[in-house]
Amino acid sequence: MTISTLATLESIALHGKRVLLRCDLNVPLKDGVITDDGRIRASIPTIKYLLAQGAAVVITAHLGRPKGERKPELSLSPVAIRLSELLGSKVIFSNEIVNSSQAKTVKSGEVVLLENIRYEAAETSKDEAERTTLAKELASYADVFISDGFGAVHRKHASVYDVAKLLPHAAGYLVAAEIEVLKKLTQSPERPYGVVLGGAKVSDKIGVISNLLDKVNVLAIGGGMLFTFLAAQGKEIGKSLVETDLIPTVKELLSRAEELGVKILLPTDIVVAPEFAADVKPTTVSADAIPSDQMGLDIGPETAASFAAAISECKTVFWNGPMGVFEFPNFANGTKVVAKALTSVSGISVVGGGDSAAAVRKLGFNDSEFGYISTGGGASLEYLEGKELPGIVALN
Ligand code: ADP
Ligand code: MG
Repeated sequence: MTISTLATLESIALHGKRVLLRCDLNVPLKDGVITDDGRIRASIPTIKYLLAQGAAVVITAHLGRPKGERKPELSLSPVAIRLSELLGSKVIFSNEIVNSSQAKTVKSGEVVLLENIRYEAAETSKDEAERTTLAKELASYADVFISDGFGAVHRKHASVYDVAKLLPHAAGYLVAAEIEVLKKLTQSPERPYGVVLGGAKVSDKIGVISNLLDKVNVLAIGGGMLFTFLAAQGKEIGKSLVETDLIPTVKELLSRAEELGVKILLPTDIVVAPEFAADVKPTTVSADAIPSDQMGLDIGPETAASFAAAISECKTVFWNGPMGVFEFPNFANGTKVVAKALTSVSGISVVGGGDSAAAVRKLGFNDSEFGYISTGGGASLEYLEGKELPGIVALN
């Protein structure tokens, strides 16, 4: 993908301008409380710059997947409060998305945050005309569009893609920084290059595994997806997560890796439990001997140590997807050991994925211990898969 022509924030005149800013404020919430504000923090530098330039700022963003309905639990209003705290200045929250009186009257130095853009069905519509109608409403608030919602740039959505066609535009600091890091991972990475993948589903990651296979030196597989790999090797996986329809694809990947001489590291031991719950008794078993009435919820200590050793030897590491169900302390060890290893990489270490970023913070690591913590899960993966990102293409 050609991204060299991405216009920067500094290249665009902003003084006295009304700016429509797309941010990624899609933070995890539990009972209305933000459990990880990383994405809000990551949005601050661009907002501060815009305000310092004397712009009037209207922010549009999404939260979760309300699918065109006004679901109160997916309101951005708690985000407006946190955003205001982090900015150290007032954020005006607008319940209305189209026809917002606050957005229409925003003044230089002010910030308006529009309610969850995905309350509007047109935002994610497959119909370009529908999306364009919404994009025109958004564009009517502004003279300039700044795209900084990296976590959504792989989506052909009205507030990400279509609106860029209607206004002069540029990438915000976050989008520029994310793309810069991804370029480092794809254009002649320093070797050895290791990729660690986990998380729940192989289907989310199969594309990236396939595309990276001839580019990496080591690929380590953990998380729920490892069981589809074990199943492909004919092993008993008990009640563990599995995507049976992908077993043939995984078999192909394994034999391609062998031909290419790429080391695929698979677990040798697994932490299992009788059911998916926080308070169940964990047992460590050999990956060859998972009892049929148990499910694997984390990689075992031997595996974690071997993944950590492989990571330490690498000069470039990309990690996406927790190694186990880190939300339950009994099954967080694998993720913790892998995260720890990433902090000691002498070259570049990148953590990608919403849950992975939340996991490292929850486990007590500091953002600064890693080379880079990406705000994008799907967007980073699609870039690494070699796909074009509509939200970036629209900026070119
Ligand atoms: P990211 O958001 O970082 O890309 P994913 O969304 O792919 O990560 O996956 C995160 C989820 O995967 C976590 O909620 C975690 O509990 C789950 N997970 C990890 N290992 C397992 C497992 N063995 N069984 C079930 N779920 C798992
Ligand atoms: Mg996730």
